[in-house]
Amino acid sequence: MVGKEGVMIGLECHVQLNTDSKLFCGCPTKAGDPNTACCPICLGHPGSKPVLNAKALDYTMKVALAFNCEINQQFFFSRKTYFYPDMSKNFQITQYEIPVGLKGYIVLSSGKKIGITRVHLEEDPAALVHTSGMGSSNFSLVDYNRSGIPLVEIVTDPDFESPGEAREFLEQLTTILAYLKVFSPTTGTLKADCNVSVYGNNRVEVKNVTGKKAVEKALSFEIARQKNMLLNEKEIVMETRAFDETTFTTKASRSKETEADYGYIFEPDLTAFRISREEIEGMKKALPELHSAKSKRFVEEFGLDEYTSNVLANNFSLGNIFEEVANCKQKRA
Ligand code: ADP
Ligand code: ZN
Ligand code: MG
Repeated sequence: MVGKEGVMIGLECHVQLNTDSKLFCGCPTKAGDPNTACCPICLGHPGSKPVLNAKALDYTMKVALAFNCEINQQFFFSRKTYFYPDMSKNFQITQYEIPVGLKGYIVLSSGKKIGITRVHLEEDPAALVHTSGMGSSNFSLVDYNRSGIPLVEIVTDPDFESPGEAREFLEQLTTILAYLKVFSPTTGTLKADCNVSVYGNNRVEVKNVTGKKAVEKALSFEIARQKNMLLNEKEIVMETRAFDETTFTTKASRSKETEADYGYIFEPDLTAFRISREEIEGMKKALPELHSAKSKRFVEEFGLDEYTSNVLANNFSLGNIFEEVANCKQKRA
């Protein structure tokens, strides 16, 4: 729905899960020199077969449950076909038709509900290292150490109406990941594709924006640019744009791909995965207390005001320190 500011924003967030090994092979997720942590599976050599990392699946289900998603009792993986040097096998193993989780939500501090379209698990492509500025030649190198590192993707409905709301969502996302202990902020990355439209016009997707601050900046720039286009009676074309972190601007990178371009097919080397209602219920019960519940409890147990308890609970370590100290004090009193 287009609100009074006329802005609609939806995010596709990619978070690196902190497993020791990759998603479909035994290669380590942390490596030193380039191209030292890869094998025939994560490079996609003919005849190699992927095997799903159970821990990565467990983490993805926890994330989906924390975002109040329905968990599919049966799901599978798909091949997203594309040609690019960061993907040596010419397809990425991802989830498409039936992801791990669907139809969740999260509540912002204003009380506004943001819909979660889906939560799915996929592999990271390789890293391209651009050498422009190194000597006289410009070329790119490929580091396959990152190929196959597990990523969880969280897609929101287009419910945000301002860059600030999107930023608050990302703050809640990092808080939830810290509570679930599935993400390492020092080594892991959080990237978002930012979809923006104004006054019901075409949607523009700003790809691969890293970090909360950059997302907020990219969205602010993009909203101003699009509104300016309309003021000048120019048409907003559906396209993919890139964010420049030094100038805080976006620039056109390519025309927007469609689902048909990717020719999704089921991944024939992995079977369908099934999980029972009881197992899902068991996982739900085993989830740790999350920030919103902890904040409410701090108000009730320690008589804090709502603002203070939110500040404490929204920071996993700070909340823990506060509780330890408060408990010591109560015991002594
Ligand atoms: P794609 O695969 O092309 O990126 P999706 O249908 O998966 O397309 O949508 C991706 C994101 O775009 C979602 O986060 C969704 O909320 C957002 N989105 C969809 N329509 C709009 C719109 N009109 N304005 C802004 N964001 C939108
Ligand atoms: Zn490997
Ligand atoms: Mg997209």
